[in-house]
Amino acid sequence: MMGKMKQAVMTAPKTIIFETADIPVPGPGEVQINIKRIGICGSDIHVYHGLHPYTSYPVVQGHETSGVVTAVGEGVTSFSIGDKVTPEPQVFCGKCWPCEHGLYNICNELKVIGFQQNGTACDYFIYPADCLVKIPDGMSFEEGALIEPLSVAVRAVKKAGNIKGLDVLVMGAGPIGNLVAQTARGMGARAVMTADINSFRLEKASECGIDYTVNTTKQDLKSQLQEHFGLEKMADVIFECTGVQPGLNAVISNARKGTDIIVVAVYGTAPSVDMALVNEAELKLIGTARYNIDDFKTAINLVGEGKVKLSPLVTDTFDFVDYGKAYGKIDSSPESTMKVMIRVND
Ligand SMILES: [Zn+2]
Ligand SMILES: [Zn+2]
Repeated sequence: MMGKMKQAVMTAPKTIIFETADIPVPGPGEVQINIKRIGICGSDIHVYHGLHPYTSYPVVQGHETSGVVTAVGEGVTSFSIGDKVTPEPQVFCGKCWPCEHGLYNICNELKVIGFQQNGTACDYFIYPADCLVKIPDGMSFEEGALIEPLSVAVRAVKKAGNIKGLDVLVMGAGPIGNLVAQTARGMGARAVMTADINSFRLEKASECGIDYTVNTTKQDLKSQLQEHFGLEKMADVIFECTGVQPGLNAVISNARKGTDIIVVAVYGTAPSVDMALVNEAELKLIGTARYNIDDFKTAINLVGEGKVKLSPLVTDTFDFVDYGKAYGKIDSSPESTMKVMIRVND
């Protein structure tokens, strides 16, 4: 007799129901994971509100995940029962131009679990061993579920090239901005400044060891850059992590000539950019999308070496049955919410 499990299904925007499903059995090359924690991110919130352009309903959410291996399929030698793991949630074709050039994160047929294919919001999840990453025994399940967003930050910082000794500005102090700032510091930046309009998020940045925080509703960003990084020099590299027009404007207008600007944020509405300024100041706008499995491994090492702190980001934890309440908290108090966790199993 096959066992049964619980699965959270979003059947329509703002509607999550719990279904009973058969516990899935791993096929060849696959691993069965008992899901422990799921982090909720900005993209999940877009799906909840019916505003995600590439997700339809019904959908099982969950792409920031940690769990424990409970069974392995035929031919799996890299994992054993009891291993702590996190899935790298991208499913790619392996045949298109980006895939053939080591850029499977921008595969033409890319599917991300929790969006275009079922995610991890269930008790037991089956995943290919090749796309699974082991997390150290000493790492908590909360931290394990945050390796995915940290990997976004890792790839973004790698896009800046050698960051050692540089002065860095990170625009936006939400979860991704926070992790980009910490990663830049952890990878050897001389100093990192974070700017935002939300003082709670700026306090979190300070708690995580970010050198300078600027509240742009009260302080002038340019004079802060000049004071801390040099009158003419200002920031050597800038990371745009706000995803909103005013944030982008602040980045473009405070960039020193010849600066690399890494565009990390996901934009809901297409912003406008002063291309005349980009041209004349020789600004370089560099896109970065998600991560690859190496970025996951770098992320795990950064946490292991104590260079990135993940726990301060978690502001709330809800039990699996309260998935809907988690979104309620996010909607009702965005000012004091950073990362919300779902405790699927203890
Ligand atoms: Zn996410
Ligand atoms: Zn592909």
